[in-house]
Amino acid sequence: MKSLYILDTTLRDGEQAPGINLSAEDKLAIALQLEKLGADIIETGFPATSPGQFKSCLSVCGSVKNSAVSVMARAVKSDILKALEALKPAALPFIHITIPTSPLHRRFKLGKTRDQIIRMAQQTVLIGKSTGAVVEIGAEDATRTEPDFLLQFFRSAIDAGATVINVPDTVGIMTPGKYGELIGYLAANIPEASDGRVRISAHCHNDLGLASANTLAAIESGASQAEVTLLGIGERAGNAPLEEIAAALFSLDDYSSIYSTRLNPEELIGTCQMFSSCAGLPIPPGKAVVGSNAFAHSSGIHQNGFLKNPQTYQWMSPESFGRFETEIPLDRNSGSSGLAYRLEKASGIKAPEALKEKIRKALQSLDGNPGTMTDTELIRLAGIRNKKDRLLLELKNIRIEQIDKGNFQAALNILENASRDLFPIFSGNSPLEALIGALKLILPRGLTLNHYSCGCAGSTGTCFFQAEVSLVIKGLILTGRGTGGNDYLKAIAEAFIAAVNRFNVL
Ligand code: MN
Repeated sequence: MKSLYILDTTLRDGEQAPGINLSAEDKLAIALQLEKLGADIIETGFPATSPGQFKSCLSVCGSVKNSAVSVMARAVKSDILKALEALKPAALPFIHITIPTSPLHRRFKLGKTRDQIIRMAQQTVLIGKSTGAVVEIGAEDATRTEPDFLLQFFRSAIDAGATVINVPDTVGIMTPGKYGELIGYLAANIPEASDGRVRISAHCHNDLGLASANTLAAIESGASQAEVTLLGIGERAGNAPLEEIAAALFSLDDYSSIYSTRLNPEELIGTCQMFSSCAGLPIPPGKAVVGSNAFAHSSGIHQNGFLKNPQTYQWMSPESFGRFETEIPLDRNSGSSGLAYRLEKASGIKAPEALKEKIRKALQSLDGNPGTMTDTELIRLAGIRNKKDRLLLELKNIRIEQIDKGNFQAALNILENASRDLFPIFSGNSPLEALIGALKLILPRGLTLNHYSCGCAGSTGTCFFQAEVSLVIKGLILTGRGTGGNDYLKAIAEAFIAAVNRFNVL
């Protein structure tokens, strides 16, 4: 098996995305989670850019023990010294030195000749190497650099002590064939790359949506390190998403029979949700591997096939990435197999044909309404009572009042099994904080709230809120969906209850 190294740069390239400003505490928490996920190298920032960056790099370097910690520096002495200072407490120090190499960048950004650039790289690699850190040299805009000069540049950096060479597709201009060819050319001409003394690293941007495809092409052509980010966050359209590369390496025999990584795939969804919470960046439902729709089937033909044999429409298992189970949401496109499955799960009762037909008609009347049908709506429509071993909660009412400045109280009415009223009450600094606190009071033992998100879209005075809430059960993640019309608090509460119900009806 060939070892494939994963360098996660969520905290460096990812943080360079517009609107992402992680606090030092969040950076540390994310780094520790990436360590748990099994990233080989955690790139944590650019210490020379600001005192805040320096401090957060220092804190990550002092805390992460089982992954290497990388900091970035330009090929100038002051950057390198600052980077090395931040790396001092690191158990496995790693410095990523970057310098532009393309004609465009040489002329307009740096105003330096090829020889000057080579000298700058060599001098700074030597300083980095002298401290015992692993040194990666990155040729910024490598994919628009003359290949023969790129090779000469890397050769000199390797001779000075660099053991990782990064070939960034800085502007995302590559296609898999071309990028693979470039990596193959370097691999063929750098003898140290064939026996592992030097790693070729792929760093791809997603301007054409090809970052993952290009990264995999690079791996096939001899790259043994992939630079990725959670959810593919990064400059402009972002980087290759860690979750996509991990899923491909783990799930496709073509890769899993050749390459091994240290990644724990079952940590993927939880890690992405944690990052989403810290960054305030919702995960799009259709996001590969980690989106809520990635393991959900709502159309009738797919539900029917999936329920007969999951392999018909789902060849990867949600459990292997940390999701509790596949979801069968119901909407107007759903069919009788999905409906029967959901009704039986929720109520414990096998639905007669006539009942299924009635619900199917009701689903079709959802035409034009976003969202899916919840368990409580389903059971109410069916006009049945769930069996005793199935716990089903229904949101009856949300009342949120401002008690005084900055103090809100949420008083909820939740009906348990159509018979017992629950009245959780909680106070918080905002309506949302009060609501979440009150909802947490009804969580069954063993369940914790992991993540929630709520989105809306509109172009007039009205919009439509849809929320997702993820709970953790025995380390696995289970998601509920909710809608709330113009009311985001209702959407979140409905999603929360839908998630609890999915657990309770097991
Ligand atoms: Mn980049």
